[in-house]
Amino acid sequence: MSKHEHGFRDLEARLDVLRTRQLFRTRRIVESPQGREIVVDGRSLLNFSSNDYLGLASDPRIAEAFQEGIRTWGSGSGASHLISGHTAAHHALEEELADFVERPRALLFGSGYAANVGVINALLSIGDQVFEDRLNHASLLDGGWISRADFQWFEHRDMDQLRCLVERGADRLGRRLIVSDGIFSMDGDQCRLDELIAIAQRTESWLQIDDAHGIGVYGPHGKGTVDPARYATQDVPVLIGTLGKAFGTAGAFVAGEEALIETLVQRSRNYIFTTAMPAALACATSRSLKIVQQESWRRSRLTSLVRRFQKGVQSLELPVPSSCSPIQPLVLGGTEMTLSVARSLEEQGCFVVPIRPPTVPVDTSRLRITFTAAHSEADVDRLVDALNAAYTE
Ligand SMILES: *Cc1c(COP(=O)(O)O)cnc(C)c1O
Repeated sequence: MSKHEHGFRDLEARLDVLRTRQLFRTRRIVESPQGREIVVDGRSLLNFSSNDYLGLASDPRIAEAFQEGIRTWGSGSGASHLISGHTAAHHALEEELADFVERPRALLFGSGYAANVGVINALLSIGDQVFEDRLNHASLLDGGWISRADFQWFEHRDMDQLRCLVERGADRLGRRLIVSDGIFSMDGDQCRLDELIAIAQRTESWLQIDDAHGIGVYGPHGKGTVDPARYATQDVPVLIGTLGKAFGTAGAFVAGEEALIETLVQRSRNYIFTTAMPAALACATSRSLKIVQQESWRRSRLTSLVRRFQKGVQSLELPVPSSCSPIQPLVLGGTEMTLSVARSLEEQGCFVVPIRPPTVPVDTSRLRITFTAAHSEADVDRLVDALNAAYTE
């Protein structure tokens, strides 16, 4: 037999291991637009598993701007930004995003994943150092590894350890980059931004904050965890925002000084060697950006939903998540237990996807409950009741 006929047996065996460990993932097929309720397997379920925090993913005004964009620009951008794909619509959105976060310039990327890997690799190489929180998003970790810089972890939000690590490497030549999520995606807690800034400044390191879950959600106009009223661009020289979560569209941006952005245009492979997002998507996001800024009721609604949920969980005598973001994880630990509670919730009409390793550390399987401005207080109460029933089972 040729080598190829044997080729995938090994893979099949590994897939079986995942199955027996209850770590095999399947994709649920959704038969409706994203929203408060989604249709899964023919059943309409209350949806507590999206990152559509402001409830904008199916907003008709944004859809209209998308359609108008297609009428103007067609469906495809046709080329990368450096060839002929960078339209006036992309350019306008970049300027609007830069104004929004009050930074000199912003640069669009196709996704947050691409932005994180692309930025770290444009900034670092062999001989440099990168310091990452252990719970950083996979794209930040991958970016650090691929860069070939010396990669060092610090324990989640452990600023003493970070300070030691950075100071120990401070006499080495080369660049230093400290990287953290703004809001951590699986825990919903916030980075210690003031301390990160202080450590970075004292050790002449760059600081990169990925505010995928904070942008649009935090601050008076949704400007994110790196509030421009409090922090200068130099405090957090590299800011990442994503557009597929609170903004309800897709893509990402990097915002910072001219020299940073121009370096990315010249050197970031994930920017250069990829087709620009459709111009119509930029038109849709421009519309979304206006709504994000104007409709602050969406953020207040989220805050009160989270408060109501936490009160409800407390009355069930379950551990209340310490997060005050719309990400409210109930960490159950075991995979089997988490799967069975999620199944029970679904039978009761609530869609909460269980999160298992390797997305989260071993023994911290959880229900990652998320709220959106599209939910009502009655929806929260229904979830709490369903949790109660699921636990007493
Ligand atoms: C979702 C997410 C990303 C990836 O963004 P995409 O646009 O979905 O690729 C990056 N960082 C964090 C912290 C995220 O939660």
